[in-house]
Amino acid sequence: MDSEISAYVDEIMSVLGDEGISREDIEKEFKRFIEFGVPPEQAKRSLIRKFGGKKITRKFLKDVKPNEQSINIVCKIITKNTREINVKGETKTIYYGMLADETAVLPFTSWRPDFPAEKGDVVEIRNAYSREWQGTVQINIGERTGIKKLDEGDIPNIQQDVKKCKIKDVYSTFGPIEIEAKILSISEKEVETDGTKKKVFSGVLGDDTGKAQFTAWHDFNLKEGDVVRIKGCYAKFWRGIPQIVFDERSTVDKLKEDISVGSLSVPLHKLVEMRGGIDVTTEGTVIEIKENSGYVERCPECNRLIKNGECSVHGKVKGVADLRLKMIVDDGCAGVSAIANREVTEKLIDMNLSDCKKIIKDGGEEELLDIIRKKLLTKKLRLRGNAFGDEFGTTLIIKEAAVVNVDIQREAQQFLQMVEGER
Ligand SMILES: [Zn+2]
Repeated sequence: MDSEISAYVDEIMSVLGDEGISREDIEKEFKRFIEFGVPPEQAKRSLIRKFGGKKITRKFLKDVKPNEQSINIVCKIITKNTREINVKGETKTIYYGMLADETAVLPFTSWRPDFPAEKGDVVEIRNAYSREWQGTVQINIGERTGIKKLDEGDIPNIQQDVKKCKIKDVYSTFGPIEIEAKILSISEKEVETDGTKKKVFSGVLGDDTGKAQFTAWHDFNLKEGDVVRIKGCYAKFWRGIPQIVFDERSTVDKLKEDISVGSLSVPLHKLVEMRGGIDVTTEGTVIEIKENSGYVERCPECNRLIKNGECSVHGKVKGVADLRLKMIVDDGCAGVSAIANREVTEKLIDMNLSDCKKIIKDGGEEELLDIIRKKLLTKKLRLRGNAFGDEFGTTLIIKEAAVVNVDIQREAQQFLQMVEGER
């Protein structure tokens, strides 16, 4: 009998290969099965499945696609934050942040009641799953996902080369980066992470190719106007808006020479691909003016739009007159929603608020909307502002706008030549 068991154990061991599983363990379990009356063949299959499951096929983050199950990864926790959420009337803490391996950096969300790893730890995560979230793949950690902190010896070489890049490139660069940028604004706040209070510094920085938000989890004594080289930072995205994140493991050097800072200028369809950005400039044609554009009245208390002199929160109020535009601007490949405040609207339609009020007095709000449509539809605009992406696409909050004077004669001529050239 013993030699029979030994033969089965040999077989199991050969299937499992070098998994670091001891022969004694296999033998002990196998004997227990036999004692229970389990047929040896079945016991063998069961043990292979049990111990074979220990072998992880590691997946690289760059290969993870949305909606995958049973993902096993080895990665480093780059950032870890907590958020309180309400699930069926119960407050639950979830953990979220960024993780990285040698191939990519991805956001994660953990629904486990605990998260047994800290920022900077290298962990093995088993049986995770992926979702698409705001255009990027997100690693999800559920109740049945295993997280194991790895010892020094088990850690694969996660160290990646730091890539030098400009702000415009952070949209397509994975892993640690090095940028040179000017601090355009900075503010300080205190946050609580894992029960300890920590100062974080955030603001906007920029170079000659564009701007990004930043978050520093360490006091580098940064001031507005400083020009810095940040080595070993990461770019993450919120609604398509780039955020440069760095901490005490990053190197920050202050530079003497000043650098120029510019708006990120991109074709409109490219902006839609990027989903968002801080201070971007783009061009497109107005193809639609939304119904709720034109003259509006706002609550003096809360700025909400009011209907029939009533605010949904503050009741009957004396409305404050305002102008706004909501339009679709398109470059022939893709479109964005663009929102203009009173100042931008007045400039674009070349009328001020009192002009608009006069039109409404005589012909009503529809008349004003007609005039606005006649003035703007099919016009090509150059727009500058902040953009963000959500499930409805990209929205641009316009700060500056100008009608681009297209030489129609010339464009028509070019068009004719193109058509004739094709004949
Ligand atoms: Zn109100």
